[in-house]
Amino acid sequence: MNILVTGATRGIGKSVCENLTGNIFASGRDEKLLSIYDNYCACDLTNELDLRALGDYIASNKIDVLINNAGEYLYAPIESTEYCQIKHIARLNLEAPIYLISRAVPYMKSNKFGRIINIGSISGVLGEANAAVYSATKAGLTGATRALALELAEYGITVNTINPGWVDTEMGNSSASEGDFTKEEITECIPQKRFISPVEIAGMVKYLISDEAKGVTGQSINLCAGLTCGY
Ligand code: NAD
Repeated sequence: MNILVTGATRGIGKSVCENLTGNIFASGRDEKLLSIYDNYCACDLTNELDLRALGDYIASNKIDVLINNAGEYLYAPIESTEYCQIKHIARLNLEAPIYLISRAVPYMKSNKFGRIINIGSISGVLGEANAAVYSATKAGLTGATRALALELAEYGITVNTINPGWVDTEMGNSSASEGDFTKEEITECIPQKRFISPVEIAGMVKYLISDEAKGVTGQSINLCAGLTCGY
């Protein structure tokens, strides 16, 4: 199975690459960090030429599994959010994943098999104060997921979004430090009193690409140590 992962250089993406069996096609910005992989394509997803080149790379490598993982967080009150920041986050977190899906689908359709997994966030499910742009882009992924699951169901292609809560990665730790609460205070508010480990996200990805999960499509799966319980 040929598996393409964006944001493969660290955090959740790296853990996904380490824990899946198959041919990994890695993408990220840092060519040096990507050189640990046999197959890689360096790409800044906010740069249109790079993004199109990654689309070509996907189209020419018979990708069976596309994992749209790369993303960035933005913590800012709405009145101090600049237009360029809105465009940047929208490009990276929403436009790029949808474009990459459009380039992966022709081969998946011809092969009557495909797995598309988007990494969303519980911010897109619950909403997060001072993170409207981030929350909107992640909610956008779940909308696209539902629509594409319907559109592609008859071709053996499943499309799902995993919504992590707080994950122990650079992003999880730096977004904790940007907010108004300490990591300890945040942990206290999580029902399981812990951050999710990246390997738990990798485990869910592994399940979603397995044959046992062929009936799971269009879903928005919260993996959040209980944060969304009761909503
Ligand atoms: P991370 O910051 O550790 O890694 C993000 C990855 O995305 C890195 O490999 C980075 O190089 C890549 N990336 C960022 N900007 C890019 C760009 N312009 N072009 C190409 N690649 C780019 O973050 P993570 O915690 O591993 O997050 C992975 C995904 O999980 C993200 O979509 C994030 O929104 C989501 N998520 C994370 C958390 C968390 O607490 N860590 C919570 C919910 C959702």
